[in-house]
Amino acid sequence: MANKNPRQRLWYRLQIFLLFLATLVVLVAAYKLRSDAYFFAGLVGVAVFFGFAMQYTANRQTIIDRANELARFKELLEQQERSGKMLIRRDLELTRANERLKQLDQMKTDFVSVATHQLRTPLSAIRWTLSMLLKGDLGELTGEQKTFVMKAYESNNRMVALLGDMLLADRVESGKMSPTEALETSLIDLTDNLLVELKPIAEKKHVTLTFKHAEEVPHARIDPQHMRAIVQNLVENAIKYTPENGSVAIELVQPDEKNVELRVSDTGIGIPKEAHPQIFTRFFRAKNAVRVETDGSGLGLFIAKQIVERYDGSIRFESEPGDGTTFFVQLPIVMHKSTQANTIGAK
Ligand code: ADP
Repeated sequence: MANKNPRQRLWYRLQIFLLFLATLVVLVAAYKLRSDAYFFAGLVGVAVFFGFAMQYTANRQTIIDRANELARFKELLEQQERSGKMLIRRDLELTRANERLKQLDQMKTDFVSVATHQLRTPLSAIRWTLSMLLKGDLGELTGEQKTFVMKAYESNNRMVALLGDMLLADRVESGKMSPTEALETSLIDLTDNLLVELKPIAEKKHVTLTFKHAEEVPHARIDPQHMRAIVQNLVENAIKYTPENGSVAIELVQPDEKNVELRVSDTGIGIPKEAHPQIFTRFFRAKNAVRVETDGSGLGLFIAKQIVERYDGSIRFESEPGDGTTFFVQLPIVMHKSTQANTIGAK
């Protein structure tokens, strides 16, 4: 009944009506003829009629329910189609926005690259002139003049360092700085040399610098100049973010037969938990770091990570806010027997 079409339903109603008529005729006949048989047949007819009528009512309700369900289903289908179309439209929009963002990112990278290259030459000229002034090559300066020129010289140096970082980040990111497989680095020599340079900065802050290592540590498979950039950044950061009278400890270990590990620990301000996920992102600086040290590009760790990973190494850190930080740099060692001739420690 549920699937019957309107014509069939009409025929079904007609049948019930005919049955009703027949039953009525039989009952009237039974009354007129005073016949028990007719009366009984009439009763059966009434029962059948009620049976049919009840089934009809039930089926009718089923049809209404099914029709409602069908309407709901149709609506859902339409909704789904609308959502599908909307999703396709959004997907297209997002793809376009993504392409635009990529273009903008490329433009920004190109701009930074051109700007830094263009700025380097005039800044070097300024530095050179200021240094001549300071040395007295252009005539003796008074004490006050010297102080001002010194300040300009230091600011200029900071700008040169920042440009250097930006250029290096650009080279690392654009893949221009590829690993030079032929070289290897003695991390002991490199760190020793660097510490000689950084000692005065640490002493100025009364920060103790120590370096611990086994007598012989295998050479790391990395370009010494690239490694120097990493170690210098880590040690400078450790000094920079450690308050006066603190300490910075550098340790060189061999955690397994394939790698060497450099650890730089400090007793400084630490890295807040919420800053951990961003610490290796370009230009990121944690709030506590900005408070204690306004100078900083937020590029050093980004560069370090990029370089280390180019050489199949890894960099990570452990830090508790207010309780110091340790950076761990792991690099593969040179597997063949190293010779003094092609070992280059940083100068
Ligand atoms: P910069 O030091 O110029 O800000 P870096 O990329 O070297 O940039 O470091 C990024 C950020 O990581 C710093 O601004 C600081 O928030 C955090 N950081 C790095 N080293 C240390 C450290 N030793 N102690 C505390 N915070 C550090």
